[in-house]
Amino acid sequence: MALVVQKYGGTSVGDPTRIRSVAQHVAKTIREGNQVVVVVSAMGKSTDELLRLANEVSPTRPPRETDMLLTAGERISMALVCMALTDVDVKAASFTGSQAGIMTDADHTKAKILEIRPHRIREALDDGITPVIAGFQGVSYEGNITTLGRGGSDVTAVAIAAALGADVCEIYTDVTGVYSADPRVVPLARRLDRVSFDEMLEMAATGGRVLMLRSVEFARRHDVPLHVRSSFTWESGTWIVEEDISMEEAVVSAVTDDTSEAKITVAGVPDRPGVAAKLFRELANRGINLDMIVQNTNDNVTTDISFTVPKDDLEAARETCDKVRGDLGATSVTTDDNVGRVTIVGAGMKSNVGITAKMFETLADHNINIEMISTSSIRISCVVRADRVNEAVRVLHTAFGLDVIAS
Ligand code: ADP
Ligand code: ASP
Ligand code: MG
Repeated sequence: MALVVQKYGGTSVGDPTRIRSVAQHVAKTIREGNQVVVVVSAMGKSTDELLRLANEVSPTRPPRETDMLLTAGERISMALVCMALTDVDVKAASFTGSQAGIMTDADHTKAKILEIRPHRIREALDDGITPVIAGFQGVSYEGNITTLGRGGSDVTAVAIAAALGADVCEIYTDVTGVYSADPRVVPLARRLDRVSFDEMLEMAATGGRVLMLRSVEFARRHDVPLHVRSSFTWESGTWIVEEDISMEEAVVSAVTDDTSEAKITVAGVPDRPGVAAKLFRELANRGINLDMIVQNTNDNVTTDISFTVPKDDLEAARETCDKVRGDLGATSVTTDDNVGRVTIVGAGMKSNVGITAKMFETLADHNINIEMISTSSIRISCVVRADRVNEAVRVLHTAFGLDVIAS
């Protein structure tokens, strides 16, 4: 008997029909001889709606109360899924993150899981009851309710699968697996049967939101087999696997897009040791996550430092830069939230030359200007104007031979 964790995303539990269809699938999986633990997201776009409501009530939105509010979304879906399961003769019980023993740090709205105490979930399974767990939430050691960051139900599912030693963690969503690009942006994107952890990490970090980055890190660390698949067609989807040398490595396997970041430029900074260190120490102290960094020396006297930050952190980052501008001797701080990032990812890039040139040539051929560049051994990212990102993804997808050929 296998133990299967099944996570259902927002669209998969988006309305009563979809909820009943999820219950049917859970019942079928049990009939086939498996034990199932279900993890659910909030219905449809309800997390966005709760956030909008909070913003209308309060410009400051205290983080503790934001978390209390947002966790209500997953509570609704877990109870409804349990009701639907009961109707198809599956004994089920719902558990909040706290009841499921998901212990986190106290960093509201982006808490990290520190420990899982899954005894209630184990007891339910032993009693023949299918547990349905609210995703995206946990509880701090002080007893406050926390959330795990947007897309966090993926982390809940993987963490529960790791804690229970599940045979597989299935992530059910509204596409049939992981594609060579977001199928909503590139209609000719192809589904990948297998993706290596290395590639999936790069994809998740650069905008391929089908799996939340931390869930992929967690799965790799704890050896959790991950299977991304559709709750609409139920067909087999994409497996995330450790790279194996017999795997045929495409030079470029995927192209991702991301418009969630903004660019800051601190201009006219004196070109001497310690200046960048001071700036980035201040930003780190404010808990701001930096991504790409570029420094240009104009004349060996001053430099311009540009970097990207999540749009949500832009105000805090600008304030920090303004605060230290005088100390640094910089002339100006400017921000730009009309940027986007296009990234090519492929494990085969390590052993192939000319990929960077081909990427830049392709963008140049379409008159798309590159503003910043960053690379890893299996990824190249370029910052371009936000309104050119989708076109950039499509032309790179074609240039690297990823388009599905119509038969
Ligand atoms: P869920 O609510 O099920 O967690 P998400 O919206 O978080 O769903 O993730 C699924 C979406 O991710 C898809 O609808 C798709 O538009 C988007 N996506 C982005 N990049 C990719 C990719 N490379 N492969 C598949 N889907 C992708
Ligand atoms: N409901 C949460 C969100 O929309 C968590 C999730 O869906 O994974 O971000
Ligand atoms: Mg998601």
